[in-house]
Amino acid sequence: MKYVNDQPYRMLIDGRWTAGSADTLFPTYNPATGDVLAHVHAATARDVDAAVQAARRAYDTHWRNTTPRERARLLRRLAQLFERDTEKLAWIETLNVGKPITHSRESLAAMPASLDYFAGIIPAVRGDTIPLLNSASVLNFTLREPLGVCALVMPWNYPMTLTLHKLAPALAAGNTVVIKPSEITPLSTLAFAELFAEAGFPDGVINVVNGPGPEVGDALVRHPGVARVSFTGGTQTGAAISAAAAADFKRVTLELGGKSPLVVFEDAPLDAAVDVAAGDIIKNSGQVCIACTRLLLQNAVREAFLAKLESRLAAIRMGDPSDPTTQMGPLVSRSHADRVRRYLDIARQEGAAPRTYVDPSARPDTSRGFFVGPTLLLGATAHMRTSQEEIFGPVQSLIGFEDEDEAVRIANDTRYGLAAVVFTRDGGRALRMARRIEAGSIAINTGIRTSVDAPFGGYKASGIGKERGLEAIIENTQLKNIKYDTSL
Ligand code: NAD
Repeated sequence: MKYVNDQPYRMLIDGRWTAGSADTLFPTYNPATGDVLAHVHAATARDVDAAVQAARRAYDTHWRNTTPRERARLLRRLAQLFERDTEKLAWIETLNVGKPITHSRESLAAMPASLDYFAGIIPAVRGDTIPLLNSASVLNFTLREPLGVCALVMPWNYPMTLTLHKLAPALAAGNTVVIKPSEITPLSTLAFAELFAEAGFPDGVINVVNGPGPEVGDALVRHPGVARVSFTGGTQTGAAISAAAAADFKRVTLELGGKSPLVVFEDAPLDAAVDVAAGDIIKNSGQVCIACTRLLLQNAVREAFLAKLESRLAAIRMGDPSDPTTQMGPLVSRSHADRVRRYLDIARQEGAAPRTYVDPSARPDTSRGFFVGPTLLLGATAHMRTSQEEIFGPVQSLIGFEDEDEAVRIANDTRYGLAAVVFTRDGGRALRMARRIEAGSIAINTGIRTSVDAPFGGYKASGIGKERGLEAIIENTQLKNIKYDTSL
């Protein structure tokens, strides 16, 4: 079955698929082979303007006045269509991102339930009646209202799942949207967008524009017709977007980078902790914002942990992502793979010892694409650049610690605060660590797993605001206070 179109992919503006006003194309690649997979039409600032205007028209004329029931019905219909097309979407994501097909299938299979979840919690979004301290006659209450047009600016690592978790709460709250997928991996989002009309969403409620961030993304986040920007991506880009949005006080949600610690105490169930470390290096080749990339090991268990982890990493089946037995695929692009390899040089210069457990050049199916083998940085210390900066690949630093206080100090000693994992059988210590670590998500004796029903978002430079859970819809609303004097 053929999953990717031969014809260049267009963009979706006001319910119509268009090549855009400049008719310029950019290529997108299959990271497993390095070959061009498809071409995509790029938007201009004029196209971005048309998309925002279409979204605003749809908001004013129709969408803001739909009932919760109608919005829920359309989201549920979209869930059904997604379920029907999951296999196709999973293959597109595998071909464009390089994820093993088993991983794409697994993450996309959960998406219909996410759409159903947001459809189901719309009625929970409501205001309050608040008795006034000094008046018996004035009825004082709040309304939660939508914001208008939301710009959703997306990264390349989980195009489908991240887009869907921004899109569904924005629509559920009564907003219309313009999506800008990553220019590196736009194809699954464009295939998903084909379902919007079939689900019954009116023209202009959901628009998609393609192209590079500094031009198309920038034009979108600066557009005066956009009320809210929801961004997932790098911390530096997040700062630029935040500054651009500040000019006219757009609401901003930022989901940014991480350098999450996995803290393993000497009383930990060691095999379970090793499972999490190995899983985080394998999953999407470590290109996961919440992946634990700093392994903080209490000195007493350091050697035992390392021995177990090394034997797991040496057994990883790295290879063609379309093979269902493959556990680990390539990185997303040549330039990203080069960047990750540069960090291995930096580690050496800083005095750490990178050890790579699978050699991609040794196998025919990994010699052509953008593969980097799973790597541990032995002898790392907390202040090395490789312990501080987000590498975003299959690379983990091993750092020893003596006691709880030192573990907390090292865990908090980065600009990031996205997530942390703690392994210990001591319940009191687990909860002390959970409270002392500065991060938006903490997992104890298990890996970090995002779920649609739990709020997710970073502390510190890992972001602003929350996605998922009821909070995701609340972030898509603004609160109005109304006072009505009933005595007149
Ligand atoms: P990126 O910041 O390079 O790009 C993300 C998006 O922003 C792309 O669509 C890009 O075109 C656009 N963009 C770039 N410059 C822009 C500008 N000046 N104005 C407007 N838009 C612009 O990120 P990436 O490399 O695609 O993704 C990897 C990063 O995303 C990592 O840092 C990772 O940690 C982060 N991430 C975070 C989460 C989270 O939930 N916290 C989830 C996934 C990925």
